Amino acid sequence: MSDQYDVIIAGGGMVGASLAVALADLPLRIAVIEPLPLGSDDQPSFDERTIALNAASRVIFNTLGVWSAMADEAAEMRSIHISDQGRFGITRIRAADYGLSGLGDVIPTRTVGRALFERITPAERIDFICPARVASLDLDDPDAAAVTLDDGRRLTARLLVGADGARSQVRAAMGIDAEMHDYQAKAIVSSVAASRPIDGQAFERFTADGPIALLPGPHDRCVLVWTRPTDVADALVELDEAAFLDQLNAGFGRRLGRLHSLGGRQAYPLYRVMATRLAGPRSVLIGNAANNLHPVAGQGFNLGLRDAATLAEILADALAAGGDIGAGDVLSAYARRRETDRRAVAGMTHGLIQVFSNHTPGLRTGRNLGLLTTDLLPGLKRRMAIRSTGFAGQPPRLARGLPVTAVEPGERMVS
Ligand SMILES: Cc1cc2nc3c(=O)[nH]c(=O)nc-3n(C[C@H](O)[C@H](O)[C@H](O)COP(=O)(O)OP(=O)(O)OC[C@H]3O[C@@H](n4cnc5c(N)ncnc54)[C@H](O)[C@@H]3O)c2cc1C
Repeated sequence: MSDQYDVIIAGGGMVGASLAVALADLPLRIAVIEPLPLGSDDQPSFDERTIALNAASRVIFNTLGVWSAMADEAAEMRSIHISDQGRFGITRIRAADYGLSGLGDVIPTRTVGRALFERITPAERIDFICPARVASLDLDDPDAAAVTLDDGRRLTARLLVGADGARSQVRAAMGIDAEMHDYQAKAIVSSVAASRPIDGQAFERFTADGPIALLPGPHDRCVLVWTRPTDVADALVELDEAAFLDQLNAGFGRRLGRLHSLGGRQAYPLYRVMATRLAGPRSVLIGNAANNLHPVAGQGFNLGLRDAATLAEILADALAAGGDIGAGDVLSAYARRRETDRRAVAGMTHGLIQVFSNHTPGLRTGRNLGLLTTDLLPGLKRRMAIRSTGFAGQPPRLARGLPVTAVEPGERMVS
């Protein structure tokens, strides 16, 4: 194995592995460095979670040719129902109102991982280096990024991509600060059965102590993501099944009849991370290394996948123009393209938590009016729906069903 690459991707989690697949058909030698194999109990990215992929992410995976390997395990979301416990405000977002068959799909992260790795493993130009961890970086050479692994190996590349998660070592080594916010809450993730069919509906119910999301899951079960303050969440995880289900039924209400037959429970601490920059010398950030969001709106991976799809497109254009994929102007173009989307999605997600976690009576009335207003004003609801389906602004080519190498109308071919 030669130690010189075009691209080194630090982190083979959901977003890093997606980038490797998006780059697989370009004439690039790629190394993906990942400490934990798929299937390991400690793998943080492909674990027990079942997550919501929005409509744009499904198109991206379909264009990359990996959707067919996931589709059997996915459950489609056709509407989202948002309510505030004990209040009158409710809004519903329906796919059919926007000419879409679905708003997205709910899918186990392990299924996504398997489909991505089936594509990466046989790819001739991709070396999947696992188990190995990036230990240190050297970004002083203007022509190459150098990476030292924990086993002492040294690799170089024209571009280093930090896809190593919210506590990114690459981000720290690039000297990039991050805005941090600890929500002092945990999300309890599990699955339940309901006595009434969930039938493609997703529910987001805000309660005084945090939101409860119930999503249509594979095999007619419902996926639960229940946010509570840290101490309450820790106590809930320890309850026996009957006591846990009593509390869940009391918080969620009877829209799906009685919730029963609880699956395994995991609790995730919640914090927000926003990198202050996305690019440095010969290096960029994608996925959670760039933005780690509260899961309330189910947007974190979707946003990271658009990072990967946009970066792949910009690198394909740089190659087509005979340019250097790690040059400063190429990496600045990536950072500029991602700025509006990441700020808008992070702002929407953080805003939801701030507004709905506030117990002030005036604000509670206001937010109920807000939900009703959203329901009554088609323009506002449409903007919310488009933002959450992932098609707002300038979606990457892959999200429009085009390959990363597509030449679009108005673009000039450079020979
Ligand atoms: C409870 C919960 C529910 C969620 N639900 C949704 C949802 O419904 N929809 C959605 O879009 N998103 C959701 N998310 C967010 C989503 O899980 C993340 O956005 C996604 O996992 C980010 O992937 P990533 O590859 O960027 O980072 P990670 O998943 O953190 O992966 C980082 C990878 O880097 C590796 N790594 C770490 N250190 C190093 C190193 N030094 N060198 C090399 N590799 C390293 C790790 O082993 C890991 O494989 C949810 C998150 C939580 C916590």
